Amino acid sequence: MSFWKDKRVLITGGSGFLGSHIVDRLKTMNCEFFVPRKKQYDFTRLDAAELCFATYKPDLVIHSAAYYGGIWINQLYPGRIYYENLVMGANVMEAAQRHKVEKVVQIGTACSYPGYLENELAEKDLWNGLPHETVVNYGITKKIMNVQGAAYKKQYGLNSIHLILTNLYGPRDTYHPDRSHVAAALIRKFVEATLNRSPEVEVWGTGKPIREFLYVDDCAEAILLAAEKYNELEPMNIGTGVGTSIRELAETVQQVSGYQGSIRWNTDKPDGQFRKVLATEKMRRVLQWQPPTSLRAGLEKTVHWYEANKAEADARL
Ligand code: GDP
Repeated sequence: MSFWKDKRVLITGGSGFLGSHIVDRLKTMNCEFFVPRKKQYDFTRLDAAELCFATYKPDLVIHSAAYYGGIWINQLYPGRIYYENLVMGANVMEAAQRHKVEKVVQIGTACSYPGYLENELAEKDLWNGLPHETVVNYGITKKIMNVQGAAYKKQYGLNSIHLILTNLYGPRDTYHPDRSHVAAALIRKFVEATLNRSPEVEVWGTGKPIREFLYVDDCAEAILLAAEKYNELEPMNIGTGVGTSIRELAETVQQVSGYQGSIRWNTDKPDGQFRKVLATEKMRRVLQWQPPTSLRAGLEKTVHWYEANKAEADARL
């Protein structure tokens, strides 16, 4: 019988960027799924999380709700990032054990890896140091869920997995300049500069840092595969394994958006971690899968979506 048939799936953050793409895929899976709204169920409160679990009685929980963003929001709101992610993660796990959920899929982040590492980030290195200072609050509060997962497996027999996601991009991302990650930020900047015929676009840092970019719908596909196939406590990376410099990304977005002006590098803005690229051997072996969308193809789809939905995209905070 299919893993998904008649499964009751609760997806926190299901109306957010990644969550909404997971929901799109769940629609094709022959399962029942529930997307709690923050107004009704605020997961920073345990009583609200418990009420939600009592109402929907999920078998499987995908915890994709998070308060997060790119390098800049981590400078603006480190306290809120710390508190909301820590408490939401703890409450989702506690409500899951109290309500006898079969499995929790924790959505983690590449920001959890030690900030000094420059080689491929392999799962075994997750605890070998503090995350980079620009993302430490987000990174720590995500990976601590994996510790809770081990404790809850031991005491309550709760099955949870911890997936470490690389930088995502795609339709329905956050395009607000304070919050956006680099891909969304550059898409907005280059599309607007083209519309306004601006002579130059400002891009932050030196252009030298290396990042990995995963198309959001590919990521949603991997998450559902992992929910089905993976049952170990050891974390598993989800990425492309391909590093791209910020300079190369900026030039690709420039081409895809048809922008004719020039790029100005603002080195007053932080570069962040030098290199963030995940080792993906385990993902390929366990899931028998690799991301189907190339960076160029994903950026083309995203730029077209952004151009067609600009007002809605810009309004999303
Ligand atoms: P990070 O991966 O956690 O460091 O977060 P980001 O995706 O926000 O930033 C990645 C890199 O892109 C950093 O080196 C930024 O300085 C650089 N970058 C260049 N231009 C921008 C921009 O307009 N917005 C953001 N968020 N980052 C930018």
